[in-house]
Amino acid sequence: MNINGNQIKSSLYLGNILILAAHVFLLVFFALTQVQFMVIVNVVSVLTYISLFLAIRYEKSRLYIWVTLLEIVVHMLLAVACVGWSCGFQYYCFGAIAMVFYTDYFFARARMDRANTVVLSLICGVSFPAALIFSRYYPPKYELHELVVIGIVLANALFMMAFAAVCFWLQVSRADFYENELTRQANHDKLTGLVNRNYLIEYLQKVYDGGDMSEYWLAMMDIDDFKKINDTYGHNCGDYVLKTVAALIAENSCGMIPCRWGGEEFILVGQMAEHRVQVPGSAGFVLEKLRRAVERYPFKYENREIKVTVTIGLSKYTGEQTVDEWINESDTKLYQGKQSGKNRLIV
Ligand code: GH3
Ligand code: MG
Ligand code: MG
Repeated sequence: MNINGNQIKSSLYLGNILILAAHVFLLVFFALTQVQFMVIVNVVSVLTYISLFLAIRYEKSRLYIWVTLLEIVVHMLLAVACVGWSCGFQYYCFGAIAMVFYTDYFFARARMDRANTVVLSLICGVSFPAALIFSRYYPPKYELHELVVIGIVLANALFMMAFAAVCFWLQVSRADFYENELTRQANHDKLTGLVNRNYLIEYLQKVYDGGDMSEYWLAMMDIDDFKKINDTYGHNCGDYVLKTVAALIAENSCGMIPCRWGGEEFILVGQMAEHRVQVPGSAGFVLEKLRRAVERYPFKYENREIKVTVTIGLSKYTGEQTVDEWINESDTKLYQGKQSGKNRLIV
């Protein structure tokens, strides 16, 4: 499923503001602890992130991710060299990998340029041991007070854990949302919003496999002379009639599942007590009420009144049919209704 490039841009702007804020914080931290070299590094970093707003604006997604990752890695290596391994700047490699995969997921959805996530992760994977080896042989250039070291290692570790957790949480919740949306689209008809043929076939097969089909009724409904409506008033008017009939079906289905079977044909299926039209709550009662609701509805398109009626074939599951045979039986009854004058319910 695709997402809008503007949504990605807003997320990148927000992410960029957060990283920029983190660097401003580090700039102040290094200024207070008098680590001059890292003050200069952070001034460059702050300027880099300010320039990266332009990369976001012009949708240079690959450039954005490459510059961000390289900045994080270089900043991490220099910070380890200046204040030592014990300050925990190497944890930024983990956050960087989470960011690379998180952004890549959205770039893919928005059809934006993607960077090579494996190469980017490898850069982090190589930098981490490189920083460790360096710190084993070269002592830090600046000595920090023990309490400051504890404070900054905790801040770095907690910030990175929170950053990675937010990336994963956002990705999982977005993926979950898109998958639900895809399932919804796959099961529903776009024009009418009713469930579609695929969904109904799966549903009927499930009920059939479950073995309890007693008291199940299936109605096949077809709009009468629909081709004439299309030919006389145009295809858009035909769509309006389809949508309105679907809304009337949904409104009057009384617990039956309404489905757009295809074209101007609908199926309603449900477990009902019986079929007699006179008995409230029965399948016949519900469908006859629906037939009348369509007949009485004042269809109007571009100030022209349109007469719309439907014919319905209704059959009960006998206990011996396959699902196909059951649908065919309702279809045969629908055909009988068409042959005998339309605008009627045949049980
Ligand atoms: P009957 O009373 O015997 O059912 O006749 P009918 O004209 O309703 O049936 P027919 O099968 O001859 O015509 C159905 C028409 O439905 C033909 C097709 O172009 C139209 N149709 C199918 N799907 C759509 C759609 O999504 N929108 C519109 N506007 N028309 C559609
Ligand atoms: Mg028809
Ligand atoms: Mg038809």
